[in-house]
Amino acid sequence: MGRATPTLISTLAAGALALTAATGGAATADPGPPPVGHDLPKVPVMRGAGGAVASVDPIVSQIGIDVLERGGNAADAAVAMAAAVGVVEPYSSGIGGGGFFVHYDADTGKVETIDGRETAPASFHDKVFVGADGTAMDFDTVVNSGLSVGVPGTPATWEMAAERYGTMSLNKLLKPAEETARKGFVVDQTFHDATADNAERFAMFPDTAKIYLPGGEPIKVGAVLRNPDLAKAYRQLRTHGSAAMQRGAMGEAVVDTARNPRTAPGVTVPSGQMTRSDMRAYEAKVKAPTHSEHRGLDIYGMAAPSSGGIAVGEILNLLESYEERTGKRTQDLSEGEWAHWFAEASATAFADRNRWVGDVPDVPTQELLSQDFADERSCLFGEDSTMTRPVPFGQPDGSYDDCQASTETTAVGSEDQHTTSLTAVDKDGNTVTYTLTIEQYGGSGMVVPGYGFLLNNELTDFNFTPVTDGVPDPNLPGPGKRPRSSMAPTIVLEDGTPWMTAGSPGGATIITTVAQLVGGVVDHDLAIGDALAAPRVSSRNGSATELEPALADGDVGDYLRSLGHATKKVDRIGNATGIRVHGLDDLEAAAEPTRASGGSAMVVDEDR
Ligand code: GLU
Repeated sequence: MGRATPTLISTLAAGALALTAATGGAATADPGPPPVGHDLPKVPVMRGAGGAVASVDPIVSQIGIDVLERGGNAADAAVAMAAAVGVVEPYSSGIGGGGFFVHYDADTGKVETIDGRETAPASFHDKVFVGADGTAMDFDTVVNSGLSVGVPGTPATWEMAAERYGTMSLNKLLKPAEETARKGFVVDQTFHDATADNAERFAMFPDTAKIYLPGGEPIKVGAVLRNPDLAKAYRQLRTHGSAAMQRGAMGEAVVDTARNPRTAPGVTVPSGQMTRSDMRAYEAKVKAPTHSEHRGLDIYGMAAPSSGGIAVGEILNLLESYEERTGKRTQDLSEGEWAHWFAEASATAFADRNRWVGDVPDVPTQELLSQDFADERSCLFGEDSTMTRPVPFGQPDGSYDDCQASTETTAVGSEDQHTTSLTAVDKDGNTVTYTLTIEQYGGSGMVVPGYGFLLNNELTDFNFTPVTDGVPDPNLPGPGKRPRSSMAPTIVLEDGTPWMTAGSPGGATIITTVAQLVGGVVDHDLAIGDALAAPRVSSRNGSATELEPALADGDVGDYLRSLGHATKKVDRIGNATGIRVHGLDDLEAAAEPTRASGGSAMVVDEDR
């Protein structure tokens, strides 16, 4: 056994960074302090002891490992890592956004969650995204505007996680991220490409263009991206906690930006409605997790306003029901058969999620997660045929005998792929999986002047108009309401102790990615790294069953089409992280090997 990698925090603290840019030319030409290093290895699977982490970026994972090595626990590591993601992956998450934090406490054996979702202003109502002509406003117009910006929940989440579960102060935990923002990091191809993809909308907002489009062009590969304004924002959070956001000048700047977006000459965008009192009223909420069982394991996830825990649990329950109905076991299925089963289960779960889940008081969580409900819903399943899309939603009414499905249907709203997922297990078994976002890649496109972070466009996760005429829609906008999410940070326990974690970005595909990852490990006995790398299928009750290329172009695609699936090839689905806990002295951390240029898994003491 030996330490995985050098310690980033200690080098930062000593002010003598050994970890400098791999792209030597740009880094040496740069006059500022040496940037934080991209010479850290990107290892997708690492196994060992002493604690483990996984994230999208090795700088982030190293910061998590450093926290664990200094005696911090999993919650400490997760907060420090999340803060670092906000610096090196600022388009996917940050203090201008929100997220969901799932925590297992090794002392009490209890799983608890923090709902740090953004909220709508108190002035919102169900027609706020309806134009003068009575139809839904143009989606992209709302994305790039103040109207899509929800009150950020991430600073309050970090503070609550550190105080409730952690052992270190927020001040300490945000220090490495602050220093990374100040010293900078070296821009890689992925970051450059993401900037180029967003260049047009970033150019609409001068405070954003100043950071990411220097000289009017997307920041170049090899350039050092320093963000002193963001370092200032982190410094204020370190000093004043979430009050810096909710009651301080930083929060006032957020409100001003949402209400009066600063745009380039000739550009106008809709204004937002957020007020200072909305900002002051924000609360991260401690919530009970969702719970379901799968093959003797306990699956804990995120409850409403996320649909993640409910939908992942229902998919896994449906797979068990299909086994009952067919007399076959998932592990004996061919790859094509399994893809069909999974697609049918996920389409069914999405029908139910769309009808029943949102930030409303009466979400029938227990019923939707009951095996009896899944058994009833499985009556629509055919081994040799495809259910017509959209699949009708079910009735989670506690009475499950016949094949009852509503004749009403719900269409599927548009959602895209963004966000970030990270996870940590410490030496004592405390466990976190945390998914956070600013919604679209680059959020609303608006950087808060003087504070260097992007504001979310989370309120576009509301349905602008009811998805089906005459059917109640739990996800319409409302005062102080939180838009429905698909984020699905998941902790799996066996006999009360951690067995695995899973999480992913990817909009609504988060649900199918996480269910597939858990199913791959539990049902197919795959190593977590193999389950995470496996090509993915995603059916979300729209007309097409999406397949990654390895499936779409091969026998699986042919088989699905022969059953009637309308397949659609997509470049990639998800970018997951997870940890398989074989024992506290045997942790297997896994991150993405190839998608989106890969992620980073690390352990404190690697098996050699
Ligand atoms: N806003 C999305 C959700 O909460 C996450 C953003 C994304 O991954 O597209 O489900």
